[in-house]
Amino acid sequence: MTQRAYNFSAGPAVLPEPVLARVQQEMMALPGPRASILEISHRSPTFKEIIGAAEANVRKLLSVPENYSVLFLQGGSRLQFSMIPMNLLTNEKKSADYIVTGSWGKHALKEARKEGEINVAWDGGDEKYTRLPTSDQLTLDPNAAYLHYTSNETIHGVQFPGEPEVGDVPLVCDASSDFLYRPLAIERYGLIYACAQKNLGPAGVTIVILRKDLLERSRDELPGYLNYKTHAEAGSLMNTAPTFAIYVVRLVTDWLLNDLGGLEKMYTQNQAKAAMLYEAIDQSEGFYSGHAQADSRSLMNVVFRLPSEELTVAFLAQAEKSNLTALGGHRSVGGIRASIYNAMPVAGVETLRDFMVDFNRKNH
Ligand code: PMP
Repeated sequence: MTQRAYNFSAGPAVLPEPVLARVQQEMMALPGPRASILEISHRSPTFKEIIGAAEANVRKLLSVPENYSVLFLQGGSRLQFSMIPMNLLTNEKKSADYIVTGSWGKHALKEARKEGEINVAWDGGDEKYTRLPTSDQLTLDPNAAYLHYTSNETIHGVQFPGEPEVGDVPLVCDASSDFLYRPLAIERYGLIYACAQKNLGPAGVTIVILRKDLLERSRDELPGYLNYKTHAEAGSLMNTAPTFAIYVVRLVTDWLLNDLGGLEKMYTQNQAKAAMLYEAIDQSEGFYSGHAQADSRSLMNVVFRLPSEELTVAFLAQAEKSNLTALGGHRSVGGIRASIYNAMPVAGVETLRDFMVDFNRKNH
């Protein structure tokens, strides 16, 4: 079998090895149906148990209160960029606030504008998305239907360490690339969503956690699939659910609960992993330069540059040879991006750190 690399892909991304081993072991047949997860009905008792366990795990990991629904949807986070304004803007509350700290917030804003009046509370584009806003820089509307922000900007490596203060306006968060990286106070959110393919599982399923009173805003005229209320009432089984993806989400959340021991421990490990790489950047005497300002740095996507394009190409080629893969930055930012999600082993980050120190020594 091919040896596994340390895979720093931004998404779809690394999964925990015990999860992959379990998938492999169960791929021919699950006990009960004696068929694989790919071959059984989304309405079978086996799948109902799987989706129930996935939801229960997420509820347990984040202590999700009873007055919140947990939905498993399709269409990726991109579809949420439209579903959120379609469902949450109303005749009384026609306008929403958006904080834009990177490319994904900008995409969300563009889609929302098709649905209603949107106020840009802050946009870091003029500074190339290198930092978070301070609270006094936000232009907030106290009557907004909601405030949308991106907790972790996957491309620019800019992350909110906590929730922005927005008073009583429901907070709506795109947590696609940092979901379950730390414990959260879910009651602070109106809605939080994440596509699975970074921190939660494979591509194909998107999780949405929303406060149940917000379901009242969903108009009956909305297309059925685009209406949160339809999904909440159907327990995410309005139509054929992405069964395989949900099955893997169940295994990943089992791993977080049982192998890792919960989100406090995960968070401590994530802080330690990110600190190793930022230290290598900060101690490189200017050889590596981080994209984000120090107080806005992401624990999930470490984005940095080398002094020249030539050195960047050499860095990537030598990293590949050292079993460190998918480190190229997003085409809009360039440089290097090391995505170090929950499932990236500490040993993988240590190997990358040592490689960075060594490459600097040889090329500075
Ligand atoms: N938001 C963020 C923060 C993302 O990183 C991504 C995917 N890279 C998306 C939204 C879009 O997700 P999807 O491709 O599942 O629609």
